[in-house]
Parts: sequence; C-alpha cells; structure tokens
Amino acid sequence: MFLFFLLASVYNMRYTSGMSSEIISQLLAQRKKLLEELSSLTHLLHGSWVERYSVCSRTSCSCHTGERHGPRYYVVINEESRQRQKYIPQSQVSAAQQGIAEYQRAQEIIAEITRINLELIKERAYAGS
Ligand SMILES: [Zn+2]
Repeated sequence: MFLFFLLASVYNMRYTSGMSSEIISQLLAQRKKLLEELSSLTHLLHGSWVERYSVCSRTSCSCHTGERHGPRYYVVINEESRQRQKYIPQSQVSAAQQGIAEYQRAQEIIAEITRINLELIKERAYAGS
C-alpha cells in the first residue's frame, strides 16, 4: 500500500513537472516570437493623427474666402506632459500612419509579454529566463 502511494506520487510529480516544462518552453517560444515582432515595428509613433486646414497671412489669398490650405498633417504627442503637434511632410505621411498603427500593436505585444511573464513567475521560471 505504501509503495503504491510512493509510486503514485513519483508518477504524479514527474507528470506535473513534465507538463510544466512543456508549458514553460511554449511560453518562452511565444515570448521570443513577440519580441521579434516588437523589434520589427521600426516606424512606431506614439501619438494621434491630426489633419489641419489653415488660412495664410496674405489677405488677398483665396483661403480667406474659399478653400483653406491643406490638409497639413501632424502627429500630436505628449512631451513632458504637454501636447505638441509635430508636422508630417507629405512624403512621410503613409509611413507615419503606419507608425501609429505599429504603436497599437506594440501595446498589444507588451500586454501579451506581461501575461507570459506572469505565467512564468507562476511556474517559477521567470527569473533567469
Ligand atoms: Zn492662403
């Protein structure tokens, strides 16, 4: 009877640690993939997109009566807790829009890596991994 319990608990331990190491290697592989994707987000911009139309200083210009100049493109960013508008030249517009989308993806990736790292902590496999 004792032997049975001993064998059962040895089996149980091996089974559990086998499962655990499989989970750990899956988590590490997922994390590696996410970090690779994160490093590919080269155009990343943390800001919001703004399009502006404006009037110029020439009083005779048609922008005062009819169609305003624009659109001009800006990314609004937070710098030292102040909002700033950064001008985006036409040639950089699509890359900058892509960069804003990349920021959204980066946030998702960071949330995923946090979840994975918390799992690794639970498995006692976070420190040193
Ligand atoms: Zn004008």
